[in-house]
Amino acid sequence: MDLKSHILEMIRRSTSDLSPDVENALAAAVQNEAEGSAARNALKTIMENIELARKESTPICQDTGALIFYVDYPAGGREKDYTTAIREAVEEATAKQYLRPNSVDPVTGRNTGNNLGVNAPYIHFNQWDEDYARIRFMQKGGGCENCGAQYRLPDIPLNAGRDLAGVRKVILDAVNNAQGQGCAPGVIGVGIGGDRALSHILAKEQLFRKIGERNPDPVIAEMETALLKDINKLGIGPMGFGGKTTALDVLIGVQNRHPATYYVSIAYMCWANRRKSIIIKGNEVTYA
Ligand code: SF4
Repeated sequence: MDLKSHILEMIRRSTSDLSPDVENALAAAVQNEAEGSAARNALKTIMENIELARKESTPICQDTGALIFYVDYPAGGREKDYTTAIREAVEEATAKQYLRPNSVDPVTGRNTGNNLGVNAPYIHFNQWDEDYARIRFMQKGGGCENCGAQYRLPDIPLNAGRDLAGVRKVILDAVNNAQGQGCAPGVIGVGIGGDRALSHILAKEQLFRKIGERNPDPVIAEMETALLKDINKLGIGPMGFGGKTTALDVLIGVQNRHPATYYVSIAYMCWANRRKSIIIKGNEVTYA
């Protein structure tokens, strides 16, 4: 099994071929905006860009993002083997210009030129009980990452208490603060609970969920639907040009918290919501 080649192909697909759920949501948004409006024109340009990238096998956006991998592997698998294959695939993908060199040493300011470095790419490992491995890949744009936020409830200036009403307020505040920066319309990943670090991790993990995939908890599912409606009433619109489409979805995850803390984290993903995965069962590899 040439694992590196499969990961390389997953990267090529991710960087040049937006997943159908994201593309369909953007296509629906075009129809929802007024004919001749700046919002509709911005979305149409985005759609043209997506089509061109797919046809030419070139990056959908010049910022090919921070590279994040989640590896779920069965008992008997070796993390080292996955790490080696991922790092080699990333290096080759950068040389082939599927990826822009985006890994910078914060001390020297030097770009490593091959997307490799300390925690670059970032790889989460999880051993699970399944008899197959799954590798999920996300390209996280820098502009949208800068629009992420974390709130500690209660938040007195926002009058947001330690309850779901308070959570709603801070999510709306984060989207309102972004004002379309980070290339709206995107997906709002939310993590409720945990400590500061776990809260951010949970928020970002939500971005692997498909658009329209509701949380199994009906209370949270209702919150996701209602918040999406409220966010799209803000009038910020695509790229901040105004309009009805500020976000494509709100995806919320929940985990327990310490009695004295209540964190809400927001991971903002731009319209270039690039994520793909592969399933490896024996010698068979399936792309999704
Ligand atoms: S935020 Fe997303 S769409 Fe905007 S420049 Fe960055 S990667 Fe590209």
